[in-house]
Amino acid sequence: LNGQSQANIYLALVHYPVKNKNGQTIVSAVTNLDLHDIARAAKTYGISAYYLVTPLEDQKELVEKIVSHWTQGFGRTYNPKRFEALSLIQIKDSLQQVIEEIAIKHGMAVKVVATCAADTPQSVGFDKFRQMLAQNNGCYLIVFGTAWGLTDEFLQSADFVLKPIKGNTEYNHLSVRSAASIILDRIMGCER
Ligand code: SAM
Repeated sequence: LNGQSQANIYLALVHYPVKNKNGQTIVSAVTNLDLHDIARAAKTYGISAYYLVTPLEDQKELVEKIVSHWTQGFGRTYNPKRFEALSLIQIKDSLQQVIEEIAIKHGMAVKVVATCAADTPQSVGFDKFRQMLAQNNGCYLIVFGTAWGLTDEFLQSADFVLKPIKGNTEYNHLSVRSAASIILDRIMGCER
C-alpha cells in the first residue's frame, strides 16, 4: 500500500537483562517517562504493541497503576489521545514471553531486532532495514534497552542489530526515548 510496510512491527523496552556502567548484567527500574514518550511514538508510527519487559512484580504493578490511570481512570476522559497511546502497552515478565505471544498471534516466527549505541559487527543500516520491511509481511520486534544498554549476549542472539544513531559529534548519550523516536522515524516515517 503506497510503499507502506506490510510487516507487523512490535516494540519492546527491556529492563532485564541490561548492562550497568561496569558492563555487569542488572535489572533496571521502570521510568515513567519511558511509558508515555515511547507509547506516543509507537502510536505515531503504527506499531502494533509496545511491550514493557520487567521480571519484578512491584515494577509490573507500578506500570499497571500508571497505565490504568490513563486507560480506565480519570486520565481516559481527561486525555483520550494519551489513552490511545498508552493502550498499546503490554506488560511481560520476559522477552521470551513477548516473542511467544507475537508468534502465536501471527502464526509465524518473530525477527528480533536489537538496538545499540555502540557499533557492532554485522549491524544493518536503516535504509536497508526499511526496504526489507516494505518488501515482506513478517513480524519484527524492535528491542530497546535501559541503563547502559542491552547485553552483548542479547545482541549476539538477535536476528538483526540496527546501526547506531550517530550525530555529527562524538557525543553519544541519547535517552532511550529519543533513540526510539529517531529509529521509528527512520524506518517508518513518511519524509524521505
Ligand atoms: N550506551 C548505551 C548503549 O550502548 O545502548 C545507551 C543507553 S540508553 C539509556 C538505552 C537504550 O537506548 C539502548 O539500549 C538503545 O536501545 C537506545 N540507544 C541509545 N543511544 C542509541 C544510539 N545512538 N543508537 C541506537 N540506539 C540507542
